[in-house]
Amino acid sequence: MTRILVTNDDGFQAEGIRALAEELRALGEVIVVAPDREQSASGHSLTLQRPLRLHEHGEGWYSVDGTPTDCVNLAVLWLLRDTPPDLVVSGINNGLNLGDDVTYSGTVSATFEASLLGLASIAFSQEVGEGASFVRSAALARRIVETVLAEPPAANLLLNVNFPAGEPKGIAFARLGHRVYQQVVVEKEDPRGRRYFWIAGTPEWRSDAGTDHEALSRGL
Ligand code: MN
Repeated sequence: MTRILVTNDDGFQAEGIRALAEELRALGEVIVVAPDREQSASGHSLTLQRPLRLHEHGEGWYSVDGTPTDCVNLAVLWLLRDTPPDLVVSGINNGLNLGDDVTYSGTVSATFEASLLGLASIAFSQEVGEGASFVRSAALARRIVETVLAEPPAANLLLNVNFPAGEPKGIAFARLGHRVYQQVVVEKEDPRGRRYFWIAGTPEWRSDAGTDHEALSRGL
C-alpha cells in the first residue's frame, strides 16, 4: 500500500495541509506530521537545544513543537521507522517558493531533509492572490503525486511545485530564478524609545528565460 508522509511549515492546522492530506488519502495511507505553529522561513533548521514533543490529534495526524525538518526526522526515523513512506510531500504552502527563496523556505527544506534521508519528495506552494484555491491546487497536487508514484520514484527525486493564483494554463519544468535586489532592514523605535528592526522589502526577480519565476509570470 502506498504510504505518504505530509508536512508543511504553516502548521498542522493550516488550510493548505488539510486540503492536501484530504486529496492524497485517495492514493493510500497518509500520515501528517507538521509543526504545531507557523514555521515559515525557518529554512532547514534542526532543533538540537531542547527536547521535542509529539502530539497525536487524530489517527495519523501529529504535530511537533519544532521545525519542518524536525517533523521529517521524527516521522521517518521514529514514527515510520518500520514502515517508511514512499513519498514525502510538503505544503501546500500559503505563498510561493521560487528561486533563491527556497533557501529560506521551511516547506522546501522539509523536502531537502527527505532527500538527505534517502526519500523522494515534492514541495507544493500556492501563490497568494485573486483566484487562489487550496482545494483546486490540492486536486492538481494529487494528480502530480499520482504521476510520480506510477513507477517507484528515484530516491533522490525532489520536485518544487508552485501553483499560480489563477487557474494554471499548463505545467512548465523550470530552474530556480534569482532575485535582483536584496531585502531591506527597516529601523524603528519602540514605545520605550529603544531601537528595533524589521526585515522587509518586496522581492523583484530577474526575468531569465527558463526560470520558475518566468514560468509563473506566464500563468504556468
Ligand atoms: Mn509557509
